[in-house]
Amino acid sequence: MERRSFLALPWFGRRKEIKACGARFRVIRRGSTARRYLFIHGDETTARDALAAHLTAHDGIGYSVLNGKRTITGAHGMVYDPNRMFSEEGLRRNLDRLNPKAEDWQKRAVLEIVAQDRESFVRRLTPPGKGLLVALHNNARGYSVKDEVAISEEVSLQDEAHLHEFLLCTDPGDFAKLKTSPFNVVLQGKPGGEEDGSLSRLMAKRGIRYVNIEAGIGKAAEQKAMLDWVQSNL
Ligand SMILES: [Zn+2]
Repeated sequence: MERRSFLALPWFGRRKEIKACGARFRVIRRGSTARRYLFIHGDETTARDALAAHLTAHDGIGYSVLNGKRTITGAHGMVYDPNRMFSEEGLRRNLDRLNPKAEDWQKRAVLEIVAQDRESFVRRLTPPGKGLLVALHNNARGYSVKDEVAISEEVSLQDEAHLHEFLLCTDPGDFAKLKTSPFNVVLQGKPGGEEDGSLSRLMAKRGIRYVNIEAGIGKAAEQKAMLDWVQSNL
C-alpha cells in the first residue's frame, strides 16, 4: 500500500511513539476523555490487541509498548521487567534477580536512565481529575487471582471456573461496582505491602483509580468482555 493512502485511513487517528524509561511506546489517542490505558509486557499479545481494538471504538489515550518480549533489554545488556520499574527499589531488586552475574555499574546505568524520565512517564499515565487508568495483562503459566487473594483487602470470586481471568483495582468505589460484575475482582487500594515497583502499587500509593484487566494468553473474548464491562460501568 502506498504510504500516503495508509496515512489517510481515518481510524488510525493521531499516532506517534515515545521513549520512556528505556522502552518505546506507541501512543494511541482517540477523542478526549480522562481515561488512560497501558500495555507494558510486549509478549502479552492478546492484551495488546484488545487495547488497540478498544481504542478504535472508545476514547482515551493508550500507551502500548513496542517490544516482542516481556522484559526490556537496556544499557549494557541489562534485562528488566518494565512493570517493576515504577520505583527505584523495585527496579533495583528486579535487576539483581534477572542479571545475577552483572556488575553494579552496569545495573546502575539502567537505574539512572529509568530515573531520568520515570516521573514524567508516570505523569503521562496518570489520568486527570478522577479519571481511570486501565492496564492490560496476560498470564501464561500458573498465575491467577488466587495469588492475589492473601494480599488483597477485598475479594469477589464470581467466576471460580476461570481464575486466570480477573480484575485488580485500587479504588474502593470501583471495587463496589466491579463486584456486581460476573468477573473475579480484588481490591488492593492501601499503600504499603511489598515495594515491588509495579504500577498498581504506585497508583494505590498515590490514590489514583487503577484497574488491571488480567486474562490468560489467547483469551481474547474474555479480556474484551472485562474491558467492555469497565467501559460501560466505571
Ligand atoms: Zn503483564
